[in-house]
Amino acid sequence: MRESVKCLIIGSGPAGYTAGIYASRAGLAPWLIAGMQPGGQLTITSEVENFPGYPKGASGLKIMEDIREQCLHAGTRIEDGQVTRVDFSSRPFVCEIDGGKEVEADTVIVATGATAKWLGIESEQYYRGYGVSTCATCDGAFFVGKDVAVIGGGDTALEEALYLSQRCRKVYIVHRRDQLRACEAYTQRMAKKTNIEVCWNCQPVEIMGEKKGFSRQVTGLKMKNILSGNEQVIAVEGVFVAIGVTPVTQLFQDQLELDTQGYIVTRPCSQSTNIEGVFAAGDVQDPHFRQAITAAASGCKAAIEAERFLNMFS
Ligand code: NDP
Repeated sequence: MRESVKCLIIGSGPAGYTAGIYASRAGLAPWLIAGMQPGGQLTITSEVENFPGYPKGASGLKIMEDIREQCLHAGTRIEDGQVTRVDFSSRPFVCEIDGGKEVEADTVIVATGATAKWLGIESEQYYRGYGVSTCATCDGAFFVGKDVAVIGGGDTALEEALYLSQRCRKVYIVHRRDQLRACEAYTQRMAKKTNIEVCWNCQPVEIMGEKKGFSRQVTGLKMKNILSGNEQVIAVEGVFVAIGVTPVTQLFQDQLELDTQGYIVTRPCSQSTNIEGVFAAGDVQDPHFRQAITAAASGCKAAIEAERFLNMFS
């Protein structure tokens, strides 16, 4: 028999957990399915200095552990599964968990977040896990004392570069323009580092490497100067790709309205989607701000709207 819930939350980043806190306190007894990476992108962020309540900053993992604890304390049922299919064609909505169990939900809050983008060059996937990574916090320890490259010019790239500069001998930032997108605080901190060098106007062309027995090893990065057209190889053993994110919306492609980049479209000043009773919160619907705090705020709004929606029928 299918279980029924008033509110099903899909995703466990700041948006999902905050939705859980508010929905629990509203008496909706929400069920939160935490997904593949419980805690979301923040769990792989080394240092977060702009989330309120942590005056000295804290690791993303610590912040997410705290929010999860608060969410559990509020009464949310949290399960570490994955939603594998949804049917939003009629209410109650039906969601399948881990390819088996089905749940009926009167409202759904989609908070599936976003995942790291890849450059799209062949060698990147060949060396992925053998020197190519999207997470310095996860993989930085493999490159102590070595030379590495970070691709991108945004906050993520600089955060990764700053983290790696404490462990690696040299960090190249490879950026396709002559101006960084990252915030002033990171830019200033980077400027003080003697072992970070920016390769301006450069686009990666190929990740170079060699086979080592059953393993593979990155030995360099070939990049093209966009202005001169000249190609150059820098000798690095690690390449960290930090060029932004893609919303996780594959599951909803035929069910919810998405924009051209794949983000869920929500109504102005609202977290409601094109399907009444389905709400979206966090990075999955926000191509503009993409901050932990804005995600949390939208999770709060989604839960309040879910409660108001259900009140219309009671
Ligand atoms: P951004 O979209 O901000 O930056 C992506 C960077 O990658 C840009 O510099 C972009 O270049 C470059 N880029 C994109 N595509 C390619 C490509 N195909 N080839 C080469 N370079 C490419 O993403 P971030 O992940 O840095 O940040 C996402 C959001 O998260 C932002 O809002 C950011 O502020 C936030 N964030 C906040 C942090 C914090 O406050 N602690 C930490 C990390 C992220 P170009 O500039 O030319 O477009």
